[in-house]
Amino acid sequence: MTATEQIVPFVEAITRYEPVIGLEVHVELGTASKMFCGCSTAFGAAPNTQVCPVCLGLPGSLPVVNASAVESTIRIGLALNCEIASWCRFARKNYFYPDMPKDFQVSQYDEPLCTNGYLDVTVESEDGPVQVRVEIERVHMEEDTGKLTHAGGATGRIHGADYSLVDYNRAGIPLIEIVTKPVVGTGALAPEVARAYVTELRDLMRALGVSDVRMEEGSLRCDANLSLNRPGDSWGTRSETKNVNSLRSVERAVRSEIERQAAVLDAGGRVVQETRHFHEDTGRSTSGRSKEHAEDYRYFPEPDLVPIAPSAQWIEQLRGTLPELPSVRRARLREEWSLTDHEMQTLLNAGAVELVANTIAAGVSPAAARKWWTGELLRVANDQGVELADLAITPADLARIEALIAEGALNDKLARQVIEGVLAGQGDVDAVVAARGLAVVSDDGPLLAAIDAALAEQPDVAEKIKGGKVQAAGAIVGSVMKATKGQADAGRVRALLMERLGVTE
Ligand code: ADP
Ligand code: MG
Ligand code: ZN
Repeated sequence: MTATEQIVPFVEAITRYEPVIGLEVHVELGTASKMFCGCSTAFGAAPNTQVCPVCLGLPGSLPVVNASAVESTIRIGLALNCEIASWCRFARKNYFYPDMPKDFQVSQYDEPLCTNGYLDVTVESEDGPVQVRVEIERVHMEEDTGKLTHAGGATGRIHGADYSLVDYNRAGIPLIEIVTKPVVGTGALAPEVARAYVTELRDLMRALGVSDVRMEEGSLRCDANLSLNRPGDSWGTRSETKNVNSLRSVERAVRSEIERQAAVLDAGGRVVQETRHFHEDTGRSTSGRSKEHAEDYRYFPEPDLVPIAPSAQWIEQLRGTLPELPSVRRARLREEWSLTDHEMQTLLNAGAVELVANTIAAGVSPAAARKWWTGELLRVANDQGVELADLAITPADLARIEALIAEGALNDKLARQVIEGVLAGQGDVDAVVAARGLAVVSDDGPLLAAIDAALAEQPDVAEKIKGGKVQAAGAIVGSVMKATKGQADAGRVRALLMERLGVTE
């Protein structure tokens, strides 16, 4: 760990420097078997139970390409508007590390399967939505490494550990890497663009059904490259931030790196080309491995695997299997839900599109579904610094709450208390309603008693209403709602009040 580094506040940094971002995303494919052998890819098995001579790199074993992984990669490439190579090869990337049994990783180097694509993303600026085209340099196939566990130390890191354990179950699981070209001209929107890109990519992978894309479990991993330059200058030196384990962190990592590099440059310093490690807790990164001297991986074509030569016919057949893409689906849902572009964009930025869609599918009206997720629930998520989808409430819970409102058993205020209880882990909707005694008083008896008490306390108001000033009724209704701790139906109270005073509205 280095001493606390200087920063320049983001809004100030962005007035002097232009950011360039580059994103490298790794996606673990959801194939049943590994990239070059038949071993299972199931998560969570006992260590080293899903291994064979091929993925352990034993001499004499021969790999065979998993056709389903190639198929997934081509579909990803097509969905990202890439050119698909008619002929390409795997390469060996040679380096030694104990999580890699073969001492080389089979990857693609100068002959990736997919190149030159793009993905459009939209972010919200002060002047409305801005569309940014993120160009894709390449999509290539490789294999994952094993997993090391460092035991005996306090931090779980290799430094200070007594010994390390290695599990090769993950070694050889198909990985694809999607690398963007440098993204320029985004200015102050750079952090949001980075987040929007990874979000859109995740949704695209999910729509294609090629991966479960869980950032927290590592099936989608993002490295964020960033450099700064003064306007008019050529691009600066980039750093590469790793350990970015949530969508929120993608945005935070880019923002904090802009603040850090601006301070280095302001002080007349030089940005070092290095990998950095992002820390969730502090929202800052620390220096990792220097990349000043390019490592020599001695790449060469993998001699044990045949080249991949997808026919034009196969590629066209795969194009026919592409699902409705997320951006197209959003446009359709926007129409169905009668939203403006801006309203849909707000849902997207909040990570609420799927949640709203599922809530509507559970029987809630589009307006109510949107109201809950982007109102009350978004506020709670922001307060807690978590994603909406991580809140302990489901579309089914909201559907139950809406059903109770429709029955007249809950009103809006009580519904908020139910939500609070569900979020606090006090049980499902019905359990919280029962435990907290949250139900609208539907019996007229107690309501009439409360009305009479309020009228007795405010005789002047009663006179006003009788004299035709019906807007004065609000004061009495308010007193009754207070007396019943919000558990009355305000409309019913008003009707009973008018009846009591013999006033017709
Ligand atoms: P490496 O193997 O070193 O990670 P890659 O080519 O796989 O290199 O990825 C580098 C990433 O950094 C790409 O997304 C690229 O667009 C981006 N990049 C390159 N130059 C710059 C720069 N000056 N500033 C920001 N990003 C950059
Ligand atoms: Mg890379
Ligand atoms: Zn194997």
